[in-house]
Amino acid sequence: MFEKILIANRGEVALRIQRTCRELGIKTVVVHSEADRDAKYVKLADESVCIGPAASAASYLNIPAIISAAEVTDAEAVHPGWGFLAENADFAERVAQSGFVFIGPRAEIIRLLGDKVSAKAAMKKAGIPVAPGVDEPLPQEPNDVVKIARSIGYPLIIKSAGGGGGRGMRVVHTEAALLTAVQMTRTEAQAAFGNPTVYLEKYLESPRHIEFQVLADRFRNAIHLGERDCSMQRRHQKVIEEAPAQHLNSRSRIRIAERCAEACHKLGYEGAATFEFLYENGEFYFIEINTRLQVEHPVTEAITGIDIVQQQIRIAAGEKLAIRQRDVQFRGHAIECRINAEDPYRFTPSPGRITSYHMPGGPGIRVDSHAYNGYFMPPHYDSLLGKIIAYGDTREQAIARLNIALSETVIEGIKTTIPLHQELLQDAGFLRGGTSIHYLEQRLAKLAREE
Ligand code: ADP
Repeated sequence: MFEKILIANRGEVALRIQRTCRELGIKTVVVHSEADRDAKYVKLADESVCIGPAASAASYLNIPAIISAAEVTDAEAVHPGWGFLAENADFAERVAQSGFVFIGPRAEIIRLLGDKVSAKAAMKKAGIPVAPGVDEPLPQEPNDVVKIARSIGYPLIIKSAGGGGGRGMRVVHTEAALLTAVQMTRTEAQAAFGNPTVYLEKYLESPRHIEFQVLADRFRNAIHLGERDCSMQRRHQKVIEEAPAQHLNSRSRIRIAERCAEACHKLGYEGAATFEFLYENGEFYFIEINTRLQVEHPVTEAITGIDIVQQQIRIAAGEKLAIRQRDVQFRGHAIECRINAEDPYRFTPSPGRITSYHMPGGPGIRVDSHAYNGYFMPPHYDSLLGKIIAYGDTREQAIARLNIALSETVIEGIKTTIPLHQELLQDAGFLRGGTSIHYLEQRLAKLAREE
C-alpha cells in the first residue's frame, strides 16, 4: 500500500479522498491555489503545497507544478479527483513517466475512452448498444454533413468528441439549421476542449440517464456495482441522483451491467469506471464513459457498503479486487442532492462568505462538503458546495430522511440550491420516479411562466 498520496484537486473531492486515505493510514499531500490557501481541508492534510494563483490554468491545471509538488513531498501516487485533470491522458502519462502511480486507468485507455467517438466505437465492439448515429467524426464537406444527418433523421444532437460537463452539445430540429449549428459547435469545441471534432447522434426525445459503476483490477477482474439514475438535470448537468433506478426492465439492466464489466475486462481497464446510458422505451443506449470517480458515487457506496475511493487506491496499488460479483449486495435506496452555491432558480453563481452554517445528521444521512462556518466560497471554480446523501430501507424512507435533513440545514451569507431541492422532493413526478432528462427543465420553464 502507498505511504503517501498527492491529491491533485480541490474542495469537496479533495476532502473526500483525504478521508479514505486517513482511514487506510496513508499520508496526504494537498496541492492548492492561492485562493484555497486558508481552506480547512488544506490544513487537515498532512502536507500542502501552493501550486499557483487562483486561475485554474495556472494552478489546478498546471501539470509541471503538480509533478514538482509530488517530487518535493515524496508522494508515491496521485489521485486526480474529478474535473480539472482527472480525464487528461497527458497528465496521467506525465505522472507515470515521472515515476508516480496515477490513480486511474492507463493513459492510453483514458485517451481511447476520453474521445467520445472512439469510445462509442470501442463499446460497440464490446457488444454494448450505443446511441443511434454515425460513430465517426463529422466530415468537413457540407454536402456530406447533410447526407449523414438525413441518414440519422431529425431531431439530432451535435456532440463534441472531446466534450464534457454537459458542454459542447447542440440539438438540431431541421435541415435548415444544421450547417450553422455544426459550425458553431465546432468553434465552441475548439475553444473549450482544444478539439474541433464533432459527431452526430439521434436526439432521443424523452430518455432517462442511467449509468453503471464498474471496478476493475490489473488482473482483469471486473465487477459492477449496479446503476444510478441521474435524470434530474439542468443544462445537461446533474442535480439529484439516486440508486437503484426506479422502474427499469430488470433483465436488460443486469445484462447491460454485466456487459460493462466485461468491456472493462476486455480492455484491460484498471480502476473505477462509469458507463453512461440513455434509457428509452426499455432500451439502453451508451453515450459515454467516465474514467474517474463521479460526483454521485456516494449513492452507490450507500447501497453496496463499498468505499469506491478505497477500491480505486487498492487497485492502483496493484492489489487484486477482494470483492467478487456475488459478494456485491444491493440494499435499500439512496438519494443525493447537489448543493451548489447558486441562485436556486436563476442558477447564477453566488460566491462569497458563509456567515452561518449548520449541517444535518441522524440515521442514514451523509454530508460530503468542504464548507464550514466562515468559509469563503471563491468565485474562480465550480459552484459545488457539497452534497447531502440520504439512505433508507426504501425510497420513501430515503426521501423522508432527505426532507428532514434539508429542513435542518442552514447555509447563510450565500445563496444555495437547497430551496429547489426541497421543492423537488415534494414534486409528484419525482415521487413517482422514472422522469426523463427533460423533466426538471420543463418544470422550471413552467414555474418561470407562472411568475
Ligand atoms: P458530457 O460528457 O458533457 O456529460 P454526455 O454525452 O454524457 O456529455 O451527455 C450529457 C447529457 O446530454 C445526457 O445526460 C443527456 O441529458 C444529454 N444527451 C446526450 N446525448 C443525447 C442524445 N443522443 N439524445 C438526448 N439527449 C442527450
